[in-house]
Amino acid sequence: MELWYSELQTPNLKFSCKVRATLCRLQTTYQELAVLDTFEFGKMLVLDEMVQTTELDEFVYHEMIVHVPLCTHPYPEEVLVIGGGDGGAIREVCKHPSVKRATLVEIDSQVVQASRQFFPRISASLDDPRVNILHADGVEYIRSFSDAFDVVIVDSTEPIGPAESLFQSPFYQSVYRALKQDGLLVAQSESPFVNADLIRSVQERLKAIFPATYLYLASIPTYPSGLWSFSLGTKRYNPLDPQNTFIPRDTRYYSSQIHRGAFSLPRFVSDLTAPDSSPGS
Ligand code: SAM
Repeated sequence: MELWYSELQTPNLKFSCKVRATLCRLQTTYQELAVLDTFEFGKMLVLDEMVQTTELDEFVYHEMIVHVPLCTHPYPEEVLVIGGGDGGAIREVCKHPSVKRATLVEIDSQVVQASRQFFPRISASLDDPRVNILHADGVEYIRSFSDAFDVVIVDSTEPIGPAESLFQSPFYQSVYRALKQDGLLVAQSESPFVNADLIRSVQERLKAIFPATYLYLASIPTYPSGLWSFSLGTKRYNPLDPQNTFIPRDTRYYSSQIHRGAFSLPRFVSDLTAPDSSPGS
């Protein structure tokens, strides 16, 4: 008998892959969590029937959500990751010697537990002495800070359920306040093919708060359409002129060339960053 995982990526499109075994399936307080052993992608973490990360392609997402902002900043010391309970972003943050403290605020402790148990290579740096793990809602957590972080990384699930507020203006305002005077924010902002409206609204919301905003891309096969976007809001630094003299060498996707190239957007994507870019305007 064959076992297949199928995900409805849009109401009309399914992504399927053959499964060797279901390693874990449970309902947490916040979401349904499953760990599957798949033939093509190795182990796969699924939350509410949406792929979060897989052994095969996790490096792309985690390197790109971390090294682009951390290499843009000249000397990131205080880094906050909101979401990211698998630990992949934290692993990449810990590669930066300038980092003094990396705080992980993940709402669901069972995501962290599952990652420790099933994804030792992704969660490898969760016990680094610079890492502080808190289980709280990132929206609530960040409200009490001002002038505290060099970089805030929003490594969230899709904008439904507990992550919905992580895509809204009041949250971005709190992040702006929590960042130091030259700080920057990065947030995963979904696929330009499947979630164009979301990218447009994230860009518009960031533009209303940050002096400069940018969008960059990476190729991630297990996410809808395979083309993924990240949105940056920066108070001072231009990511096209990265300031950090440290460049991580033990990467498989990120490089200085990829850093710059990721901001070269196809026209239909750069249109999403333009003011009044909604269809018909
Ligand atoms: N790389 C992934 C992606 O783009 O699909 C994201 C992975 S990471 C597992 C996302 C995490 O965000 C989940 O573990 C979820 O529990 C967490 N999360 C969602 N909403 C949150 C919130 N409001 N505060 C903190 N963590 C949150």
